[in-house]
Amino acid sequence: RQPLIWARDLECHFPVRAGAFAPKKVVRAVDGVTFTIRKGETLGVVGESGCGKSTTARLLIGLTPATGGKILYDGQELGEELSLRDLRRGVQMVFQDSFASLNPRLTIEDSIAFGPKVDGVPDAKARAIARDLLDRIGLDPARFAGRYPHELSGGQRQRVNIGRALAMRPRLVILDEAVSALDKSVEAQVLNLLADLRKDFDLTYMFISHDLNVVRFISDRLMVMYLGEVVEIGPAEVLYEKQAHPYTAALFSAMPSMDPDARTQTPPLAGDPPNPIDPPGGCRFHTRCPFAEEICAAKKPRVMTLGTDHEVACHMRDPASGHGKVAA
Ligand code: SF4
Ligand code: MG
Repeated sequence: RQPLIWARDLECHFPVRAGAFAPKKVVRAVDGVTFTIRKGETLGVVGESGCGKSTTARLLIGLTPATGGKILYDGQELGEELSLRDLRRGVQMVFQDSFASLNPRLTIEDSIAFGPKVDGVPDAKARAIARDLLDRIGLDPARFAGRYPHELSGGQRQRVNIGRALAMRPRLVILDEAVSALDKSVEAQVLNLLADLRKDFDLTYMFISHDLNVVRFISDRLMVMYLGEVVEIGPAEVLYEKQAHPYTAALFSAMPSMDPDARTQTPPLAGDPPNPIDPPGGCRFHTRCPFAEEICAAKKPRVMTLGTDHEVACHMRDPASGHGKVAA
């Protein structure tokens, strides 16, 4: 499958100052991130909070300006052949807080019709689009069209947000913790809806979540981030079966599993990730990695290809690194 998004060496650095007299420092929120999202797939993005998942998504649609790197959207380079404005038509985002993105004074029909109207679609047509979408997202237009956001449940509001996104006829939908605030049973319904809509509307998803069980349900491939970098990327079923990067293994071992045999041998992660201001040198995970050796603090691991579509950045996986052969 062809890439819809092709991102190379994306970087988002910004200066911070801890106090008026403190020296200026640089936060490396996203630091050289490379990946693709293929047409029609769901790329799951996982990692602890603060690892750069959301910032990476925001860079893709220019909500946060990149300080480095390159993005191609369907073969067109952003900022060169493709303007931010044109890109934004094709990419929509749904966030965790179902209230925040809805205008409390608009009925949900008006909310969904709003985007198309701004785009110049006549009122009657925009309403017809909204009613059709209400039906597609499982809210009977006869009952729901005239309701206001506060009259809906969290799950219903999130359906409306999905409808609003679809009204713009996007090709890529970025779901940033979009089901994380919902109860488990509602979450499952919304996930099923998302899976159906992806097929029906020919969508591509970037699905950001801290919940590995949810990510597993919906993702074709997984991208694992740590402190602003991608540490592993590969087919979801491969990563769930056997993680190549110690950080991925630690994440998965912290995941509650129904099957005790499926649990990995790696101990779950202790402590918080280090500060993205002055991140550790070499492999950024070396301060928490149970397999760290001298080389891990000294040298940044290169990205190794393990199998079809499977990449990892860890000295342990690099035959040329000397990991395991370093003199004590
Ligand atoms: Fe652990 Fe070293 Fe691999 Fe980093 S490079 S994950 S510290 S073994
Ligand atoms: Mg986030």
